[in-house]
Amino acid sequence: MSMTSLTTEKSPVWHPFTQMKTALPPLLVKRGDGVYLELEDGRRIIDCISSWWVNIHGHSHPKIARAIYEQALKLEHVIFAGFTHEPAENLAKRLLTHLPGRLSKIFYSDNGSTAVEVALKMAIQYWHNSGQARTRLLAFDGGYHGDTLGSMSVGRTAPFWEPFKSMMCAVDTVPYPITWDLDTQAEEREQESIDCLQRLIESNPSAYAAIIIEPLIQGAGGMKFCRLEFLQKLQRLACELGVLLIYDEVMTGFGRTGDWFACSKSQTTPDIVCISKGITGGFLPLAVTVTSDKIFNGFYSDDVSKTFFHGHSYTANPLACAAALASMDILEQSTESFLDAEKLNRTAAAEFLNSQNLIKDMRFCGTITAFEVTTSDGNNYFDSIGSVMRQKFLDRGFLIRPLGNTLYLMPPYCLTNEQRLEIFANIADVIREIA
Ligand code: PMP
Repeated sequence: MSMTSLTTEKSPVWHPFTQMKTALPPLLVKRGDGVYLELEDGRRIIDCISSWWVNIHGHSHPKIARAIYEQALKLEHVIFAGFTHEPAENLAKRLLTHLPGRLSKIFYSDNGSTAVEVALKMAIQYWHNSGQARTRLLAFDGGYHGDTLGSMSVGRTAPFWEPFKSMMCAVDTVPYPITWDLDTQAEEREQESIDCLQRLIESNPSAYAAIIIEPLIQGAGGMKFCRLEFLQKLQRLACELGVLLIYDEVMTGFGRTGDWFACSKSQTTPDIVCISKGITGGFLPLAVTVTSDKIFNGFYSDDVSKTFFHGHSYTANPLACAAALASMDILEQSTESFLDAEKLNRTAAAEFLNSQNLIKDMRFCGTITAFEVTTSDGNNYFDSIGSVMRQKFLDRGFLIRPLGNTLYLMPPYCLTNEQRLEIFANIADVIREIA
């Protein structure tokens, strides 16, 4: 199908997170190559956000493509109850080498929302299996954990879920202790969050199954950062008050924060970790929910009713596991690509963005850079400045999707420093244009 026919005919495709009436026609992508997306009309654009934060090595990496092909010739898929296969076994062992020692079991599913859904169900059934009806959950204002009912419930403060509010699980939220460069009040905000959590849990000690957090960075909620010290305080509190701690590392995994995972960066160990997005380098859908022996043993029983009755048709798909193993090979051989990113981003921002007075709350964490663009609307996901900037960047050859007035970069790790400087220079120009 040519580009012309796609944009002029009515397509039957309904796109995600898109108001189909007002959105511009989607751009037809012909191929991907490293940081570049090549459009049907011949334009090449730099993918500054790794598509939906998944293509950590850029697009169409030949090593991953080959691994999928070779696996497909051997075994494309098999039911994962009563059967297993080498890619799933090898990947599970390999993942654990990059996670804190107390984490020991890998449960497969196929996207970030299901990784979270599994975590929440595991936490609630863990208490149920031990004879306690703990069904309330604790989460953070501004969090985003996915689009299924359970994951929407713990992201209940997002501006999208109004029609579903009455169907949601019981969740209480507390402030996320947001911080940024040169912030002097981080500790006070952290104490406020800890106090809120403590008050809630102590007022109803047998009600709460778990606390869930996006560690270090809230993604879709506006690239809001917290300090790693907060995670240490949170782990201490959860442990003292006997509530499980879940890290949603769907976005922060595989180098994004400048370390393999936010838990390794903060030297904290939650009870359950949710991982997806970068796991296959953006080739195939895959997710894992990782737990400790303590959680696993809560299900390990002669009593069949204590089984974790959860599983998806494509659980642990061998092609996806093979892609993930190849992606980890690449990552293990090029750790400097995410270890050094923050320093390079800071230097580039200092060169191009320092003198811009529309920019505030500048922040850097590993491979991620974010800041707010001041507008008369204040901070707002639906701020139209987001779509204005998105179009201006596209016109200049960059895929950047601001979240309202929050502009962020989350590029593939193969970005060269020359390309990085080009991106920052263009951001400076676009901000000057809208001033
Ligand atoms: N958790 C976090 C932190 C996320 O950023 C996302 C996706 N943006 C999800 C969960 C949901 O993942 P998916 O879109 O793969 O269902």
